[in-house]
Amino acid sequence: MFRLIATLAVAGVVAACAQPGPTGPMSAKPMPPAGGPMAPGPMAAPAAPPPPPVTPPAAQVFRQAPLPYAADALEPVIDKATMEIHHGRHHKAYYDALNNAAASSPEVARSSVEQLVATASRQTLVVRNNAGGAWNHAFFWNIMAPVGQGGAPSPALMARVQADFGSMDNLMRQFNQAGASRFGSGWAWLIVRDGKLAVTSTPNQDNPLMDLAEVRGTPILGNDVWEHAYYLKYQNRRADYLAAWWQVVNWNEVNRRFAASAAAGPATAR
Ligand code: MN
Repeated sequence: MFRLIATLAVAGVVAACAQPGPTGPMSAKPMPPAGGPMAPGPMAAPAAPPPPPVTPPAAQVFRQAPLPYAADALEPVIDKATMEIHHGRHHKAYYDALNNAAASSPEVARSSVEQLVATASRQTLVVRNNAGGAWNHAFFWNIMAPVGQGGAPSPALMARVQADFGSMDNLMRQFNQAGASRFGSGWAWLIVRDGKLAVTSTPNQDNPLMDLAEVRGTPILGNDVWEHAYYLKYQNRRADYLAAWWQVVNWNEVNRRFAASAAAGPATAR
């Protein structure tokens, strides 16, 4: 009986010592002498209840999702520092600006990012740019995956690629050309339009879902050609970034989006 109590007492002390205390590092607390009497008091106290969940500020109606993988998951094609800055600062800044706009506009506050994008021609330039930036990057993270983990184009997608481009090589060439020739900052896109695939590009944070886009359609693939997307690793060599980027395309997600756009019918591509 004594051995059982002693074992429980030691276990209790060990468990209590494993909890970081509110008063500072564990080393600041005196340990009871080994084999001594069980010390009642703070060391044996039950663990504090977990803190309540943090309530976000009321004005924060648009929330940025975390990256769907670790920041270094796309190495060596996209380096960790670029991903951390791109997601943690650039993408976050679009959400912050959108939330600022929502704080002074009830219409913005009750809209989704998708609704703001679809009605870009009626929005302020601030809302257009930042809703676009929020949507484009959320899309971008999800259509990428670590090298070797993105799967391959589905037979249905490959059939459409061959019908509309002749080959995947031709599609990639056109897409890279669209990205390379976009002067300044913008995006290259592969879209579904009237049931067919097309390559297009947009300036700034515009996208093909916007009612003001020159070429409208449903994006199933897109690449960010802002310098912040590649400059740390590729400097001014945008073409090298565009060529390497295909290694991190998440074809499983592209296939899913292609199938969804086909199921929705051509009306959504207008
Ligand atoms: Mn970007």
